[in-house]
Amino acid sequence: GPPLLSVHNLHTYFPQEEGTVKAVDGVSFDLYPGRTLGIVGESGCGKSMTARSILRIVDRPGRIVAGEIRFRRHGMTDLTQLDANSDDMRAVRGAEIALVFQEPMSSFSPVHTIGNQIVEAILLHQKVSKRQARARAIEVFRDVGIPLPEQRLDAYAHQLSGGLRQRAMIAMALVCNPSLLIADEPTTALDVTTQAQILDLLRHLQQEYGMAIMLITHDLGVIAEMADDVVVMYLGRVVEHAPVDELFHAPKHPYTQALLRSIPHIRSRPRERLASVAGSVPHPYNRPTGCPFHPRCESFMPGVCDQQAPSLLPIGEQHDVSCVLYHEERS
Ligand code: SF4
Ligand code: MG
Repeated sequence: GPPLLSVHNLHTYFPQEEGTVKAVDGVSFDLYPGRTLGIVGESGCGKSMTARSILRIVDRPGRIVAGEIRFRRHGMTDLTQLDANSDDMRAVRGAEIALVFQEPMSSFSPVHTIGNQIVEAILLHQKVSKRQARARAIEVFRDVGIPLPEQRLDAYAHQLSGGLRQRAMIAMALVCNPSLLIADEPTTALDVTTQAQILDLLRHLQQEYGMAIMLITHDLGVIAEMADDVVVMYLGRVVEHAPVDELFHAPKHPYTQALLRSIPHIRSRPRERLASVAGSVPHPYNRPTGCPFHPRCESFMPGVCDQQAPSLLPIGEQHDVSCVLYHEERS
């Protein structure tokens, strides 16, 4: 069937006095209903900004300068054509595309109970009574495995443990049955045991709610456990896109290969899974010419790789890569 979300050639730029930061610089991918797309890369590669662009919550002076974000709702709506503060876009945010992120404290107000905030969120998007909203909140707290849901709804965010707060944030994201859940480093701040529980929960909820998940992480272990398909990003661009097994067993892009080499034992202690590739991500004002990865690439070819940024081109049925090594093979 058709994709739920189709991002095409998205560019989100931040004009600054020192120059323009190209946070998202030509990103394309499709996400299908009920599937999980992992988006992986080191911090600063544009993963979160891609998500914020989709939700139209890019902070000024950042702006989507080109591209399309087609989302399936009454046909395919190009979200870039909606006003960020319009009723339509508000309906998309929260009710159709929900976001969970690393720090649940910042998604709850400290001065209202969690229950009141969740009830408000339901009333904002659904024509139900306060009593029905409360019942829905209790139901979704049960769904996310929060014990004693009625008591927990009357708590304030700081009164819950980190793991319960994360579950409460996921509950808040689910109250309106979104068709897409964007999870941005949802387990990064959690201890190993809680991390595993939250990933299990997301998998379980995906089945129960039938939603698609866009999972943003720097952790290839999380990708291996959760994703159906993977997008690897570097400096605002997609460098490789493949089904998860193919990405792990036959990575093509030198950056993907380096990321995978940096984690000798994927299923070992999660704290050791932090990707570290030789060299560091260049400062966004000093974007390399040509292939953005060329200063760190072992296969760098002077006069080729530093001249023109390679496009993302198919090298297999569902496998795309942006590297001249493979493009030359084609011709
Ligand atoms: Fe390396 Fe050149 Fe491929 Fe870039 S285009 S990843 S520099 S070989
Ligand atoms: Mg981020």
